[in-house]
Amino acid sequence: MLSDSFGRIHNYLRISVTDMCNLKCIYCMPQETAHSGKSSFMSSGEICGIASVFSELGINKIRITGGEPFVRKDIDKIFYELADLPVSLAVSTNAVLIDRHINVLKDCSVNNINISLDTLNEEEFFYISKSSSLGRILENIILLLENNFTVKINFVVMRGINEDAVCQIASLTKHFPFEARFIEYMPFSGNNWSREKVFSHDEILEKIGDEFDYYKIPDDVHDTSKKYGIEGHAGIIGIISTVTKPFCGECNRLRLTADGKLKNCLFSQGETDLLTAFRKGLDIEDLIRSGLSEKRSERGGQFDNENMINRSMISIGG
Ligand code: SAM
Ligand code: SF4
Repeated sequence: MLSDSFGRIHNYLRISVTDMCNLKCIYCMPQETAHSGKSSFMSSGEICGIASVFSELGINKIRITGGEPFVRKDIDKIFYELADLPVSLAVSTNAVLIDRHINVLKDCSVNNINISLDTLNEEEFFYISKSSSLGRILENIILLLENNFTVKINFVVMRGINEDAVCQIASLTKHFPFEARFIEYMPFSGNNWSREKVFSHDEILEKIGDEFDYYKIPDDVHDTSKKYGIEGHAGIIGIISTVTKPFCGECNRLRLTADGKLKNCLFSQGETDLLTAFRKGLDIEDLIRSGLSEKRSERGGQFDNENMINRSMISIGG
């Protein structure tokens, strides 16, 4: 079991497989991005070797993330190798390329798919992501639902940029059985965050309440989103309030960056280098345990949003 100094059991690992992406979302990728370079990324064998140590220590859920996982040429191989471990597999993606991998995801039982989608307007989408892939993403979301994958939509709400689309995305849940999750804009290195741009949990809920009759749904103990239903809708709403209402009390997550560093929290300053030790053939269990023992009770011990010391989101892995 992986327990931290507050008695929180950690059974969930998010592995970033790359810090590269085919989109350039303004809230995630700094304009001047220095990629780690392929040789410092974990190879597929290293990802699976390190993941199997975590699995022996009690990790039973792994989410593959990035950057964009599907820009990695060997992503199918990574899924096939991870599928041999006794863990449930999930992936976070922008969905631009996912249609080419549907069969692999089915073969490997990767059923839970989180997809970024921050607007339904082409121009706004281009402003946010510097890409014209909105149509393709929407087609792929429908393809995934037709193939019975469990889909969650992740929408980062930024005041003055896309808050007007909150109800449009919420209205899609009338016919589409996904969870539309609205995420408060979080501060990371190079993402031009300011407090004024955060559209809060309460404001999101108020906006939804202006158009829909919503009701509270019970949350699971490790849920990051606060869930709401809307009368007559096939899907549900979730709100992730990391900035205004942090939810660290029941945290069960660890993160492994694409360059093989353990982060015990999304907001942790400290990192533990697992890859260098793994490449030398050393046992990494003690490193994992000592990295976890340094986990702080809340938000990596960083509460001054304006002066966070951290990587960019794209190099952490969301
Ligand atoms: N490329 C994939 C994607 O877009 O889903 C996976 C990586 S992305 C870094 C993972 C998640 O982090 C996305 O849902 C994205 O919306 C979220 N994210 C990135 N930057 C964020 C920020 N500043 N605040 C809140 N969420 C953020
Ligand atoms: Fe790429 Fe996802 Fe970050 Fe957008 S949020 S830049 S799609 S990694």
